[in-house]
Amino acid sequence: MNDFGQPQVFLVGAGPGDPGLLTLRGHELLSQADVILYDNLVAPELLQFAGEAAEKIYVGKRAGRHQYSQEEINALLIEHGKKGVIVVRLKGGDPCIFGRGGEEALALKQAQIPFEIVPGITAGIAACSYAGIPITHRNMASDVAFITGHEDITRIDDSQIDWKALAAWRGTIVFYMAVTKIEAICQRLMDYGMDKKTPAAIISWATTPKQMTCSASLDDLSQVVKDNNIRPPAIIVIGKVAALRDDLSWFESRPLLGKTVVVTRARRQASELTKQLKYLGAHVLETPTIKIAPPDNLEKIQQAFEKLMDYDWIVFTSTNGVEAFFKYLFLYQLDGRDLVKNKIAAVGTTTSQALLNYGISADLVPETFTSAAIVEALRQSDDIQGLRYLLPRTNIAPKELPDALKEHGGRVDDVVFYQTQPDFQHQSLLEKYLDQDRIDWIVFTSSSTVKNFTDQISLKNYSSNKYQIASIGPQTTTTLSKAEINNVVEAQEHTIHGLIKTILSY
Ligand code: SAH
Repeated sequence: MNDFGQPQVFLVGAGPGDPGLLTLRGHELLSQADVILYDNLVAPELLQFAGEAAEKIYVGKRAGRHQYSQEEINALLIEHGKKGVIVVRLKGGDPCIFGRGGEEALALKQAQIPFEIVPGITAGIAACSYAGIPITHRNMASDVAFITGHEDITRIDDSQIDWKALAAWRGTIVFYMAVTKIEAICQRLMDYGMDKKTPAAIISWATTPKQMTCSASLDDLSQVVKDNNIRPPAIIVIGKVAALRDDLSWFESRPLLGKTVVVTRARRQASELTKQLKYLGAHVLETPTIKIAPPDNLEKIQQAFEKLMDYDWIVFTSTNGVEAFFKYLFLYQLDGRDLVKNKIAAVGTTTSQALLNYGISADLVPETFTSAAIVEALRQSDDIQGLRYLLPRTNIAPKELPDALKEHGGRVDDVVFYQTQPDFQHQSLLEKYLDQDRIDWIVFTSSSTVKNFTDQISLKNYSSNKYQIASIGPQTTTTLSKAEINNVVEAQEHTIHGLIKTILSY
């Protein structure tokens, strides 16, 4: 325990599968954790939010490996909790819905270790939403029951579940852990009088690119599950609302659902491509990921601060730039009062918001990111000729903006306040996917992305017919063939849009 009795152990809900469904609190704790104990239904991507030094302990079930008993997990939590480090117990969905979070919390309580429980989106709710089944509805379902299928269904006499009440339930019933017992469950509900034509659905691997939903009436559901070979993890929904799926299904109609696409980064481009592919349902692996590092030396920053008063404008083009600027401003024992002489521009509202956090309201906020638009906005505000500009930026910032300012007669100090570097920490994830033949597309948007990729991975080691390579245009294709990567599908229109069109039509 630390000095004030604050919690050291955090039981964190990881959400149902889609890494985007983790809570902000969960994300914050993961990034601070010293030790993470995680289960098998936790999305592997979430571990990327952990710091490099965090110890990650897998305590879930896996065939052929030692499986931790609940007592052993409790003991591990207590052992690490006592060290005074930050321990995150990351559990699929919500920690306390069929997740034994209650038992773990009790064990911690007994050991006098303070804890916090961070809720997660439970699979039952997420599966319904992602299948297009509103779990409640004013005219169809005024109540919801979450039921475990884990019970031994043959032991009806000492069942913890009131089957009679359940069969008479008028709202929505959501079963967890019930795939293997689906036939018996449906039969029992019908035996107790539930209408055999009650709409039902089963959703496996909900919220992930592998999501699959089958709808059927109660009496047909188990046959449909067999016919479609549906495997756990899956959620079974029974109730009138299940019928709304015919109209409301949205996730499974995305054209790239189930496809895994590797996007190789080059500056901002990758995130736009990633965003679009995700909207189309693809599971996107960005590689390499990016990390922010300090500049190699602080000389230029120091020089800029020495003549800070002389700059007519300071132009911030990113939140990272704002953060780094103030970090060094304070380091050199200056503060906001030293900026009274400068006018300040922030490109985009997130950048201007970051400035506001330091008590600075930008004089100018161009909304468009192109250098032409920024220069035009600056020009409308002032004649650029002869004015001095400070640009606190990253090492890989494109030169268009300073060049354009200079063209208009501006005097520009383009100073590296932070570096953007490839982070190869997650290379192993990509290798794992390649090993398991789980990649459908590898996408290259420029020659430099080819280099970034081949620096990490030698595709020759992964002979597979499964994945396709997509290239944005002839130059990139040539670079690929020089790297002995062939069989490339090239976009007809050499833009991100064209690239996506090509993938979709393939
Ligand atoms: N604490 C978890 C549930 C753990 S029990 C939660 O709140 O979601 C494990 C069961 O959860 C599985 O057998 C399955 O019924 C359900 N489940 C978990 N993830 C799922 C997913 N992505 N899709 C469908 N069902 C899932």
